[in-house]
Amino acid sequence: MSNVVVTHAPSGLVHAHVLRRVAVTPHLVRVTIGGDDLRRFEYRGFDQWFRLAVPVRDTHPRFDNLPDRFDMGGYLRYLALPKHTRPVIRNYTVRGFRPDGAHGPELDIDFVVHGADGIAAPWAASAEAGDEVAFIDQGCGWRGETAEPVLLIGDESALPAIAGILRDLPRGATGTAIIELFDAADRQEIEGPAGVEVLWVTRSPEDAPGTEALAVLRDLVSIPADVTAFAAGESGLATGARRHLVGERGIPKSQVTFCGYWKVGKAAG
Ligand SMILES: Cc1cc2nc3c(=O)[nH]c(=O)nc-3n(C[C@H](O)[C@H](O)[C@H](O)COP(=O)(O)OP(=O)(O)OC[C@H]3O[C@@H](n4cnc5c(N)ncnc54)[C@H](O)[C@@H]3O)c2cc1C
Repeated sequence: MSNVVVTHAPSGLVHAHVLRRVAVTPHLVRVTIGGDDLRRFEYRGFDQWFRLAVPVRDTHPRFDNLPDRFDMGGYLRYLALPKHTRPVIRNYTVRGFRPDGAHGPELDIDFVVHGADGIAAPWAASAEAGDEVAFIDQGCGWRGETAEPVLLIGDESALPAIAGILRDLPRGATGTAIIELFDAADRQEIEGPAGVEVLWVTRSPEDAPGTEALAVLRDLVSIPADVTAFAAGESGLATGARRHLVGERGIPKSQVTFCGYWKVGKAAG
């Protein structure tokens, strides 16, 4: 579930290839993509996200016949493509963008490596320089470019989004960010306004994603009525946070952006 508004960027389908892959933390892999076509990409910062087409192992993926929009028509055209050449589409966040990188424009994507299940994460874990990808920009979920106070809450899949929002908020912003990890070793140095306190929590393997983050949220003594909130990550975390903020703290729905980034036991798509 989500109330994120999709804004189809005029850049359409952008082609790129993998430049390099580095392990950021034990369960987070950064894949940097590049290529001249990235010059058409309009970087907006914050939690900007896109639909990323990644190759499927043991097929012959083609990126030249993908639709340039992922609206209903584009999605149906995508489904009509032959399965053995059709890349898989998954949503990811722009973790960083350097228009003038060492090899031309460079864009970083941080993938949670969540195991052998799925397509995008296993692909990222072994992505090699030269691998072809493509993406369609979808815009930002965060709506409060200059807003404060802020409340950001998410799990490891939303770490790139929360880090991006903190990076791009005005330095005078205040508030709280709650980030839940399943392994404390995945904690990162995050650059952000000094007035936004970042609270890291780690969930136990037997707990549902969001258990710890939602407990911290419930324990917050006060949440300002004019807060701009962003909740993302496992579906139960995102919807649970919204329910608490709107239902129990009286925050207007319009001030709460929420998005289920993934769902336990369910493949995206
Ligand atoms: C707007 C948006 C931005 C996103 N940005 C990022 C990002 O920057 N980095 C990132 O890592 N993810 C991000 N995600 C989440 C990502 O799209 C999903 O995790 C996606 O399901 C991964 O695809 P997959 O092919 O690896 O697994 P799928 O084929 O979708 O799922 C296979 C299995 O893996 C499980 N699974 C999927 N994701 C996770 C996870 N994170 N942890 C544990 N189990 C999981 C599923 O429950 C399922 O059982 C974002 C999602 C959205 C909507």
